[in-house]
Amino acid sequence: MAYNPKTNKGLGDLFTSKSRCMVKREWKGFKDTFYDFGRWLKCYGFMLIKLGGHPILLIKAMLRYRWMISYLTAANMIDRHTIGLRGKELRYVHEELFALVHNATINVKKILERDEHLRPNSKKAKRLRENTVMFDEMTPKNIMWGFPTLDWMDVAMMSIGMPGEVDQQANVYYIDKIEEFGMAADVCPLPAAECGAAVVNDVPILGKTYITSTMPCDGSIGQTTFMGRYFKNVPIYQVRPPQRFNEPEVQEYAVKNLEGAIKFIEDNYNVKWNWDAFWKNAKDYNKSTQAVIDKWDINTTDYPQICGGALSLTREYEFQGAGMMDPYLYKTQLKTTKMAKKGYEEDKAKGVKNYRHRAIVWACPAHYYTNFTYWADQTWGVKTLVDMECMLSYHMYKIGDEKQAMIDMASSYERMMMRSHTNGGYVNSLDELWKMVKKFNADIVIMYDHVSCKNVGCLHGLYEDQAREHGVHMIWVPHDLMDPRTVSRVAMRDAFNKYMTNVFREEPIDPTFVEYEDPLTW
Ligand code: SF4
Repeated sequence: MAYNPKTNKGLGDLFTSKSRCMVKREWKGFKDTFYDFGRWLKCYGFMLIKLGGHPILLIKAMLRYRWMISYLTAANMIDRHTIGLRGKELRYVHEELFALVHNATINVKKILERDEHLRPNSKKAKRLRENTVMFDEMTPKNIMWGFPTLDWMDVAMMSIGMPGEVDQQANVYYIDKIEEFGMAADVCPLPAAECGAAVVNDVPILGKTYITSTMPCDGSIGQTTFMGRYFKNVPIYQVRPPQRFNEPEVQEYAVKNLEGAIKFIEDNYNVKWNWDAFWKNAKDYNKSTQAVIDKWDINTTDYPQICGGALSLTREYEFQGAGMMDPYLYKTQLKTTKMAKKGYEEDKAKGVKNYRHRAIVWACPAHYYTNFTYWADQTWGVKTLVDMECMLSYHMYKIGDEKQAMIDMASSYERMMMRSHTNGGYVNSLDELWKMVKKFNADIVIMYDHVSCKNVGCLHGLYEDQAREHGVHMIWVPHDLMDPRTVSRVAMRDAFNKYMTNVFREEPIDPTFVEYEDPLTW
């Protein structure tokens, strides 16, 4: 426990309203503080080794792209997720989050090597671009499993998605820019920020084609249009997944569309689809997905292990950001599952239950507050067992069946972030929630109320009614995904605090952490 009742000191004392980072390090005992410091060195040491070879380009990139600076605060993001943790829980989170730092650093290096804005006259950069496919965030990068000689980059995740999760201020400038340009202020800040980055010419140009998608929400449709104009001389292919995917008939349409994407790549890069490479990646995908399911299974028991953001962020970036092709993320997924199994056996043997409530997270979480669930755990003993954000793409591939492979790929990306649980309709959004509540034996649903997401907003009343019927506490936590000015972190905590105090009538575990000021922090 981080709170000391004798001194009345706790985690809230690490923050002040005037500071961007914590004002002091948390003392976790010699062993854990030393371990924490070692991981801090590892984080920046790795970034230095990988990026230090390009010092001039790196400075140029930081001057050219304001989102690039946010990556420098990576260690602070890890600190936010490990605050108050000790022992094996601390190690789980460090292992998981370092895999994200690893992936992002490799991608930043790839940006430095090939971006047209940074290296307009470099022949080497041009050669790399000629061999690279650019992707939007909500697209099936798994398609690149069959093209081992090509490279690919997710332009939206690297310039908007990830910086917004590392640094709460990262997307604000771009949201303002697109609103000045005329976009309505009630559009979801995720697509709005991506459009804003395009409008101020801050999206890197990393390849010679662009694969985009369709999201059935106003903002994302706008984003596709803006990005299409931005990449004006770049051939574009749109992947259009069906939203109501439970009926098998729709897969015929989805497969046709995916085959069109394969042909688009073959034609533009003069390459052929390679089944051997595809199956190798599909096998790794199956193994990694099984590892994630094993972690969920552990968390359905009385002895949950890897919880909150560490569970969800790794899966999010492994699938969405890395297309399941990052060997380091793959190894980490297997390694942490092994650690979790060992931790489960230890806790079961000792009967350790270090929580008051069992929660699951539903609906889109705030990008600018990915550590909210750790705060809820440290302050109120609410352990988040699973997060909707990590419940993506748990569909397995049938290895060796070429006809089924395309259906499996379609089924996999139909279950990606925001598709099934946000836009997938009543069955995938509501019915699925109650199944998960039962499976994880949760008494609380932390319901993220994204104020700009009309899809979930229209189901608000139904969620409320059904929560009462199921006898589950549904705590609505408002946020605006990437704009902390609309709903601040303080306001998010306030909504949760009110429920814990007024409905549960509970006392906090750490009173210093109930309310504190962090509007300036990354
Ligand atoms: S959070 Fe909602 S509004 Fe925003 S991009 Fe996703 S589905 Fe669209």
